[in-house]
Amino acid sequence: MHKIVDIDRPSTWTKWHKSLCFQCNASCCSMPVEVYVEDLCRLNLASFEECQDSLKKVAQRLKKAKIIKSFNLRKEVFILEQNYGTCLFLDRNHRCKVYEQRPKTCREHPVTGPRPGYCPASSRKSHKGRM
Ligand code: SF4
Ligand code: SF4
Repeated sequence: MHKIVDIDRPSTWTKWHKSLCFQCNASCCSMPVEVYVEDLCRLNLASFEECQDSLKKVAQRLKKAKIIKSFNLRKEVFILEQNYGTCLFLDRNHRCKVYEQRPKTCREHPVTGPRPGYCPASSRKSHKGRM
């Protein structure tokens, strides 16, 4: 019987192995992505100077540009915006457009994350998602 995977329920996820990513439609790129100042700088979305000056202003600018969805000032963490339920950096072929500069959250998934070692893998064609 085919296992039903629900992205919002980590208990339904699959034990991860790198080979899974080659046949997956990048389901993990539908999850909220936490982004930090160093990620914004690596992605050329903000400069260190600008971030040192006022993270609130950076957040306002990126929100207006529809790059981030929300910002937590206390934790200094931003959440990336999505397009039709997937990360704004995912292209129509399920590939990450900023793979080399992708956020730390993406680099570490699923080694760390909601259920370490497991991910919401779904089979499809080859792509380059978070891992
Ligand atoms: S880590 Fe992401 S791309 Fe790789 S198999 Fe899991 S859900 Fe798919
Ligand atoms: S790997 Fe790329 S497309 Fe996927 S969530 Fe991260 S930044 Fe977005």
